[in-house]
Amino acid sequence: MEELKPSTVIMAALSTLSPPHLSDLSHSIFSDVHTSRRRLTFILSSPTLFSFTLRHLNSLSLSHKSLLVARFLLSALRRLSRPFQTPSKSFPHHPSTAFVTPRDLDAAVLLLLLCDVRQHNPAALETPITHWRSTLCRIYSDSLLTISGIATGGSGAIIPYIETVGRCWKFVGFVVSRNGGKARREVAASPVAVVELPSVAVGGCMAVECVICKEEMNEGRDACQLPCEHLFHWLCILPWLRKRNTCPCCRFQLPTDDIFGEIQRLWDILVKVGSPSDGD
Ligand SMILES: [Zn+2]
Ligand SMILES: [Zn+2]
Repeated sequence: MEELKPSTVIMAALSTLSPPHLSDLSHSIFSDVHTSRRRLTFILSSPTLFSFTLRHLNSLSLSHKSLLVARFLLSALRRLSRPFQTPSKSFPHHPSTAFVTPRDLDAAVLLLLLCDVRQHNPAALETPITHWRSTLCRIYSDSLLTISGIATGGSGAIIPYIETVGRCWKFVGFVVSRNGGKARREVAASPVAVVELPSVAVGGCMAVECVICKEEMNEGRDACQLPCEHLFHWLCILPWLRKRNTCPCCRFQLPTDDIFGEIQRLWDILVKVGSPSDGD
């Protein structure tokens, strides 16, 4: 599959939304952006908090940093893909993929600002580290003036948000490719999602085969139904979902507690919605 630009995929998906859905989404994005900006303003205005956060950031390995950004990306993708998931196909979030501490959130927002500055204004960070706070303060307040759409809370918040998603994507993608390419890994389905799967009685005039063991399911017996409505023996599907989060018939993806697997799943939802040949 060819490489798709995150902003193109997201814009294509959002263009299918009705005006009320788009308006709900932009309100939700606005409140998320507002939270990050409030944190960042707070960090930049306090010398103590700034040096504490920077020290914390510097103590992290590249893979830890990547994990921070991945969590940030995941929360954005959850927000962006929510309008495309019918209630029966959405699952509660598992705490392991959410932000754990305010310190992590602080580190992530500062890291993203540093990445942005390094990309657009690399000379700014060649000053001694003791000058970074005042330099970043200046760049940050200038950037706030240029994205005045944010202040109105309208759909103007969406574009910068998508740009941030693109930056996170690049950061995480960079590390993923260093670790042996972007080949899709198999990840276990989230136990929380598996516990929520319904048990249904097999019935009707049609014989139903469990594709895992290739045997017919006995009428009247309970079977496991995935959100895509495919049926399996419980004893067949449970071991399967401990290794993979996909339906054996149609590759519908269940949520996973693996952060990168979950990013891939939500990304696939956005790609599907936004591509006219593949969507429904
Ligand atoms: Zn079976
Ligand atoms: Zn299926």
